[in-house]
Order: sequence, then C-alpha cells, then structure tokens
Amino acid sequence: MTNTTIIAGAGIAGLTVAYELQKRNMPYLLLEAGPEVGGVVRSLHKNGFELDAGPNSIGATSATLAFFREIGLEQELLEATAAGKNRFLVRHGRLHPVSPNPVKILSSPYLSGAAKWRLFTERFRAPQPPAAEESVTAFVSRRFNREICDYLFDPILSGIYAGDPARLSVNEVLPFLPKWEQDYGSVTKGLFRNKGLMAGRKIVAFKGGNQVLVQRLQALLREPPRYNCRITGVERAAAGYAVKYDAGGQTETLSAARVLFTTPAYATAAALQGLDPALAQLLHAIHYPRMGVLHLGFDREAVRRMPQGFGFLVPAAAQLHFLGAICNSEIFPSRAPAGQVLFTVFTGGVQQEHFFDEMNDDALQQKILEELTILLQLQRPPVMQHFSRWEKAIPQLNTGHRLVRAAVQDFEQRFPGMYISGNYLSGVAIPAIIQHAAALAEKLWAWNSNG
Ligand SMILES: Cc1cc2nc3c(=O)[nH]c(=O)nc-3n(C[C@H](O)[C@H](O)[C@H](O)COP(=O)(O)OP(=O)(O)OC[C@H]3O[C@@H](n4cnc5c(N)ncnc54)[C@H](O)[C@@H]3O)c2cc1C
Repeated sequence: MTNTTIIAGAGIAGLTVAYELQKRNMPYLLLEAGPEVGGVVRSLHKNGFELDAGPNSIGATSATLAFFREIGLEQELLEATAAGKNRFLVRHGRLHPVSPNPVKILSSPYLSGAAKWRLFTERFRAPQPPAAEESVTAFVSRRFNREICDYLFDPILSGIYAGDPARLSVNEVLPFLPKWEQDYGSVTKGLFRNKGLMAGRKIVAFKGGNQVLVQRLQALLREPPRYNCRITGVERAAAGYAVKYDAGGQTETLSAARVLFTTPAYATAAALQGLDPALAQLLHAIHYPRMGVLHLGFDREAVRRMPQGFGFLVPAAAQLHFLGAICNSEIFPSRAPAGQVLFTVFTGGVQQEHFFDEMNDDALQQKILEELTILLQLQRPPVMQHFSRWEKAIPQLNTGHRLVRAAVQDFEQRFPGMYISGNYLSGVAIPAIIQHAAALAEKLWAWNSNG
C-alpha cells in the first residue's frame, strides 16, 4: 500500500488520473464518496429521450478525440450536425443569430449603434495594462462598453460558468483577452490574428448519454474504485500520508506515498483542514452556486420558432428565469425520438440562485415554461419534462483566484507527495480536465521514477 497513490474522487478527473497511472504501471486506489463514478456527469433516459443532467456536449480537441479513440469509444461518438455552428442570443424577446466575427456583429441588429461604435473603435484605444486584476465587467467595459459586457460576455459566460462577469476574473476565464491587449494593443486585433483559436475543435457527445465516457473509464480500471468512502482528513505518516475516510459511519485509515485530490474545492478544504487551515479557508471560499437543469421534449410541430442551432443564451439583463438552452436534438438528432425535439434548459447559477429561495422547483419550471412558450411560440405542452437540481454546480473563478493557485503551489511544496487538482484549477471543460489529468499522472510518474 505504501507506494500507492490514493486518488480522492471518481469524477472524470479522478478516473482519468487513475487510468493514466495504470498505463504507467503505478499503483493507485480511488476513493469515492458516492455510490457510483462520474460526479456531475450523469445521464438518464425518459420516454425515448436521452438526457444529460451535467455536461451535454464536449468541445473536443484533436488530443481529446485521440484519448476517446484510445479508450475504445470512437464508435460511440456523436458528432454535432452542421447546425451546431449556429448560436443565438435573446434580446427584446427574440432570438438573434450571433457570430464571434466582429464584422458580422456590426451588421446585426443585436447591439445598439453606440455599442457597435465602441466595438469598431476598440483597436484605436490605447492599451492600459491595469495595476490590479480585473473582473470581466471591468475589462470589457474599459475596452468596449457596458452594453457589450451585459449583452455579449454575460450570456457567453453564463453558458460556461453560470457566473457573474462582475466577479469572474478575466485572467482566469478569458485569459486571451488581456493577453491580446498586451501583445497587440487591442482585443479585436488579437481576434483577427488568432482566428484559429477554436479551429480544430469538434462538438461531440456519446451515444446513449455522456455517462458512457465515465463508465468506460471505470470498466478499464483493474483496481475498482471504493465507493461510499468519503475522505475526511490527511495526516503525515512515516512513509507518506495517513488518509482517513468515512465508510458507512466507520472511520478507516489507509497509508499512501502520494495523495491526489480531484474533489470539489469545498470537499478538499474539509479534508485538508488539519494539515493546512489557511489553504482550507481559501478553498472553502470558492463559490459553487446552485443550478437547475430542465429537460423538455416537444412534438416538433409544436415548436413554431425552432432555433436551428446549438442553442440560445439569455443575458441577465433580459430578466428571464433561465440562463439559456441547448437544442440537443438539432445537433445530436438521436437524443430525441423521431418527430420530437429535446431542449436542455439551465437555470440558477450566481445571478439566478435566489430563485431557489423564492419559489419551489414546480413554480420555477412553470415560470420557465411560460417564458419559453412566448420565445419559441410553443403550441402545446411538453411531451416529456424532467428537472434535476445541483446544490453545488460549477466553481466560480472570481477575482482573487490567483491566491488559491499560489496557496496550492505552496502547499504542494511543503507537503511532497500531496497533489491538489480539480476543475477549479484545470478549467471546467472536460477536454481541459482530461489533459490536466494526463499531465498530472506524468508528473507523478516522474516523481516516482526520480524518487
Ligand atoms: C450542469 C453542468 C453542465 C455542464 N456542462 C458542461 C459541458 O457541456 N461541457 C463540458 O465540457 N463541461 C461541462 N460541465 C463541467 C464539467 O462537467 C465538470 O467540470 C466536470 O465533469 C467535473 O469533473 P471532476 O471530476 O473535476 O469533478 P466532479 O464531477 O465533481 O467529481 C468529483 C467526485 O468527487 C467525489 N467526492 C466529493 N467529496 C469527496 C470526498 N471527501 N472523498 C471522496 N470523494 C469525494 C464526488 O462524489 C464526485 O464523484 C458542466 C457542469 C455542470 C455542473
């Protein structure tokens, strides 16, 4: 046991690290607090619809696709239809097609003339490297204007973090913007010189639901994860660390040379409270807002204004009760039975979390359905409806997050053999998590070989 790496958490991150360690013939043991693998990757089936309560699609790089091939999932992949390139934003009660190309934005009625002028003239604005870290709102208002923040950046960041641009750190969530300001003197100049930023990414998902991915990783592991084992504390021990965990009300201890946390920040904080209270405090302060995921299935002819695209996002300023929706069956037709369509609607997050205090789940679903009825001109009630709640959904990389990164780095130096990972450090998207997990396994292997 002593040369083992204990991995905390069997979400996509923990499973990928375990798989990568196994490839390098390094012993590992996965401890998972819940009764199954996957964490927030969760699929279900209802009335012939394939639903994902967590990640619905993956913006796969060529490395991500190579990984899926390596683990034998090539035949299980669904590639988004051409419609997946079309995105919509909601303003004045209607859907507007949007493009990341500023030239196309300038010719769209989505933004006011004043906002378009600020967009067009951004390249002439002198760069002002800020002394302090900026929020997205501060950065975008400075380079463009508030409307561009509220109607472009706010909904786009809602779609990824369900966050608040006034709190999210621009360096964390859109690091290329300040970099372009530094490198080219302008964000729009940077955009034109880096047109290929997203090129090569394919929007994919898995047949039968995205849980297929975590189930495949689980099946490939020769050492099965130990379920219902919640890590509660870590102490230094003679040959590494003693890991305490709760297994059905009993406290058990295991020793290991290395311990790697892939758990959410609040869970890692609780486990490291005894070892480093200052780090625990920083990790504990990372906000994971509540979110709701409403799946709605309709007969196709009941949706008069069907968006032919990936989906639509709603600026907070529009004051609706949802953040946006994915039109699953437009991009992955097998997600819905023939003649029917599937939407996955997201609600909550930082700017809408208060809805969960103000109304119950039924009232919230009803409100969302009323708003969608107007927006999409729905002619009939849904043929399928399912609501999932996440009490702690997505970590918010707010201003000051660099202090967390620094504290983690300092901790790993003071406690050799302890590693802290998690989507609040790697990035929340699945390709980033997979890439980070593989790099981490390589680091552990190098540490083991040299040590
Ligand atoms: C609603 C929603 C939609 C999303 N949509 C997308 C999308 O479309 N595309 C995309 O790329 N990403 C998406 N994401 C983000 C992505 O799904 C997550 O970032 C990723 O799945 C997180 O994986 P993880 O392994 O880091 O953490 P988790 O999935 O949170 O797994 C952590 C695991 O640790 C376990 N654990 C917790 N505490 C302990 C403990 N003390 N001891 C042992 N185990 C413990 C948990 O039970 C869990 O299984 C979405 C996320 C959410 C919530």
